[in-house]
Amino acid sequence: MKSVSSGGAFMFTLPVFGWLFGILFPLRCVGCQAYDAWLCSDCVASLIPCSNALGTYDQAVLKRAIHLMKYQGQRGIAVELGRYLAQQIPLDSYDLVVPVPLHWRRRLERGYNQAAILAQQFPKPWLPALHKRRHTARQATLNRQDRLHNLDHVFVVPKQYQVLIQGKRILLIDDVLSTGATTAACTAALHAAGIASVTVAVIALNVPSTGIGPVTFRTATERSIH
Ligand SMILES: [Zn+2]
Repeated sequence: MKSVSSGGAFMFTLPVFGWLFGILFPLRCVGCQAYDAWLCSDCVASLIPCSNALGTYDQAVLKRAIHLMKYQGQRGIAVELGRYLAQQIPLDSYDLVVPVPLHWRRRLERGYNQAAILAQQFPKPWLPALHKRRHTARQATLNRQDRLHNLDHVFVVPKQYQVLIQGKRILLIDDVLSTGATTAACTAALHAAGIASVTVAVIALNVPSTGIGPVTFRTATERSIH
């Protein structure tokens, strides 16, 4: 079939069934293009195994999935990623799930906090117990000195949540762990509110961005993905 460059005309050249299929089953795996899921179980199984993370950020599948979730408005992918992550965390290791918060300005831009959607996929109660008081520069864009102060007193536990989280073992959820500064600041705020412990779980580890060097959690099972 001759391809037509004009967008409108191109629609009519598509085979009708292919077009209908695309309408009925719009979800494709970001890794292998399989239908019906943002990320299929085969592609998840092919990720580098990590502790408390689905994989490393340098894997194309995860990078693409996270990009869609954060910058393309695809909140459905957060539901899937959250379910996969929840399966990896032992149920008896936490009481309550708390997402890393977004500042209200960024939340308004995006329409949702992806970490909250991730947190909602766990089989235990979740609570938006952390509040971000001001908009901050991305840690990755700052030098070491500025990083140390960028998150000073940014995260707090509002009064109405303090009594609810006291003595609880918290599972803190974020999408990507890079410098660790955000999760450290959140952990400090939670401890100040009297929680028992914090475990951090994320979709992807982006440790090389810290300049620490080659990641140490690669295993022999690593496969190159697309
Ligand atoms: Zn796949």
